[in-house]
Amino acid sequence: MSKYDFKSIEAKWQKYWEANKSFKAERDTSKKKYYLLEMFPYPSGRIHMGHVRNYAIGDAVARFMRMRGLNVLHPIGWDAFGLPAENAAIQNNTHPAQWTEENITTMQAQLKSLGFSYDWDREIATCRPEYYRWNQWCFLKFLEKGLVYRKNSQVNWCESCQTVLANEQVIDECCWRCDGEVTQRFQEGWFLKITDYADRLLEGCKGLTKGWPEQVLTMQSNWIGKSYGAEVDFQVKGKDKSIRVFTTRPDTLYGATFMVLAPEHPFTFSLSRGTEQAELVDEFIKNVKQEDKISRTSEKGEKEGVFTGAYVVNPLNGEDIPVWSANFVLMDYGTGAIMSVPAHDQRDLDFARKYGLTVRVVIEPPEDSLDALTMTEAFSVDGTMVCSDSFDGLFGNEARRKVCDYLEEKKLGKSTVNYRLRDWGVSRQRYWGTPIPIVHCDDCGLIPVPENQLPVKLPLDVELGDRGRSPLTTLAEFIETECPKCNKPARRETDTLDTFVCSSWYFYRYTSPHNNRAAFDKYDADYWMPVDQYIGGIEHAILHLLYSRFFHLVFEDMGLVKSDEPFSNLLTQGMVIKDGAKMSKSKGNVVDPEEIIETHGADTARLFILFAAPPIKDLEWSSQGVEGCSRFLKRVWRIFEDFVEEIKTAKSVSEDYEAGAKELRELRRMAHVTIRRVTEDIQIRMQFNTAIAAIMELVNHLYSFRDEWTSLKEKSDEARAVLREAFDILILLLSPFAPHIAEEMWSRLGYEMSLGFVSWPVFNEALTQTEEMLIVVQVNGKVRHRIMVPTSADEEAVKARVLDDPKIREQTKDKEVRKIIVVPGKLVNIVAK
Ligand SMILES: [Zn+2]
Ligand SMILES: [Zn+2]
Repeated sequence: MSKYDFKSIEAKWQKYWEANKSFKAERDTSKKKYYLLEMFPYPSGRIHMGHVRNYAIGDAVARFMRMRGLNVLHPIGWDAFGLPAENAAIQNNTHPAQWTEENITTMQAQLKSLGFSYDWDREIATCRPEYYRWNQWCFLKFLEKGLVYRKNSQVNWCESCQTVLANEQVIDECCWRCDGEVTQRFQEGWFLKITDYADRLLEGCKGLTKGWPEQVLTMQSNWIGKSYGAEVDFQVKGKDKSIRVFTTRPDTLYGATFMVLAPEHPFTFSLSRGTEQAELVDEFIKNVKQEDKISRTSEKGEKEGVFTGAYVVNPLNGEDIPVWSANFVLMDYGTGAIMSVPAHDQRDLDFARKYGLTVRVVIEPPEDSLDALTMTEAFSVDGTMVCSDSFDGLFGNEARRKVCDYLEEKKLGKSTVNYRLRDWGVSRQRYWGTPIPIVHCDDCGLIPVPENQLPVKLPLDVELGDRGRSPLTTLAEFIETECPKCNKPARRETDTLDTFVCSSWYFYRYTSPHNNRAAFDKYDADYWMPVDQYIGGIEHAILHLLYSRFFHLVFEDMGLVKSDEPFSNLLTQGMVIKDGAKMSKSKGNVVDPEEIIETHGADTARLFILFAAPPIKDLEWSSQGVEGCSRFLKRVWRIFEDFVEEIKTAKSVSEDYEAGAKELRELRRMAHVTIRRVTEDIQIRMQFNTAIAAIMELVNHLYSFRDEWTSLKEKSDEARAVLREAFDILILLLSPFAPHIAEEMWSRLGYEMSLGFVSWPVFNEALTQTEEMLIVVQVNGKVRHRIMVPTSADEEAVKARVLDDPKIREQTKDKEVRKIIVVPGKLVNIVAK
């Protein structure tokens, strides 16, 4: 009997899969396709446990779907541009390209050692010219469609990364990548007009409710932040001008007791001229200029303000209200002016209390009333309008609509729709990224590089400075060029594209990765897209997942794709936790996957990761858990070894076979019940943990059967066939989780085809029925006994079986049985006196 030698088994099958290109995917319109994708990794150098979890989940699904007869595309590649390569290059005195390619080689080997069923022929790396050429092409197409512009604006700046960040990349006022402080600065840069698609991105969320986690859709909807409201004009008192404000709460207009302008608003300066406040206002504007946008608008930031000396007229009640300027109002949100309703907005209330401004309640909660003089918490949700003339008594949306109608009728303002989403700033001041294909010409302005001159190659022969300043900005060979329009000397753009641009369309590239005439082939994309199942971390909810949906809509408008959305189903897997915290180098709680593979094997690692928790939940690492899975696979191996010789030559069970021995019938039932459980757990619920638990039960059953087998008289060919069937089922069900051991056992049974494409077993409904059931027996309403009766027994047979039971006979002796009540499948009650 041979030992479970996972090392040689795993090496053998990995070699086999690679040599035979077992998982190569090809377009085949006669077959139903299934595109399974995990978010592609950044080539940081080593695979970590989070990767292993992500890919183990994906691979289980890919293998399952392949066995279900679908034409599965399961590609892998590298999100290979980005800052860590540059930082590592500076630290280790290498080149980002060399560092990245070396990491890719290491990580490829690591992924292969885990036995994932990728189509390696489709591997891509975004840092290679054959990929980023098409990234540049996308940029030019977007430009052609009027979806790219350049502007000088206040941007988020990460000092430690030495680059600009998009709004989506600032998380809790810090950099998404390095967690460093983000400040504001003015900078010229390129933007993609994602706001043009705000409404369609929002609408699309409705179609995704079946396949996407609700949480991700909520995060996207909130980020897009569509709000209905009104633009209202407030007449400046004594002047022939008015100030427009935007409000999402027109129902609170009667409670607007002051107005606040951004310090940058031109009226802040001009309205204060000639008033006693002029000097104070000048000083205030000067001070605010030194504050950054983020601390100005953060909840914790100190609210500072100054009276401008001017008044405006509330258009609804004709009241004069003072105009202030305050640091928390920004020019680039809305109109740079807000109406303040302190009773119904907390920030306004804090400001009003600080500067002694009027508070007036105009919205009442149901069954309660507010005291304007003493309230410390604003009532900011929907309520009933009060102190609002003829609008009194109106509530919520209806109230807002009525006020809007009135404003439009009296020409005091108009109803509007606003979005929180801003355009996507894609200029990065770093080296290791896609060069933006633009030329600056003194005569012609900004000129796109013609398509036939792509790619604009990133020069590799550069020295990286220690401050992280991009060498492109000083590299004459790169910068100096000719204007494509007038041929005069001109300069290349030196900013590179945000790496999130690379990842916004890589899943199309996988459909025809070697195409050198287009970003992707339309026929291939039409066949494979959309991605049927996407798997990745929730941290990308409003970054990558929103950007990709945006790119998809633009491609759709260009006639390049025909599906509505890029990802039909999304699974966001939980984190891998150890000792109560996410595994991370800084916490020192990292378990290296290579170590686990070395000691226990890839199959054990994969099995543990899928068994320890459902995919969407966090997974607590446990070395006992790993050892448990390792023991389980050894147990599978031993029972297989015990029987392999016996069943190797067994024929298959015939269609109409009915086993005589109860043990054989029970084994068949168990095997078919396990098929049903595992199939439903994967297909319907994606609960691999319960699927694996079911397989473990089948293995336990085989062990108890082994004892019975020894004494079994009926060791006929048919009996061996039943046993063979049970092992076939066990191996097939185990194969998506632990593919190497499954392949080995499968080939030992004499099968020639690799498991990857063997049909998934189908359960026989009739065989899954139990033959006997447990019935509770009561005597005069008290539970006295539990007995097994055949499932097929009718009421009379059940009665007879119960009355014949020795224990019940004992209970009813000396008594007259008056009545027997049978509740089918559950209970028998005997009434006896
Ligand atoms: Zn940073
Ligand atoms: Zn020119």
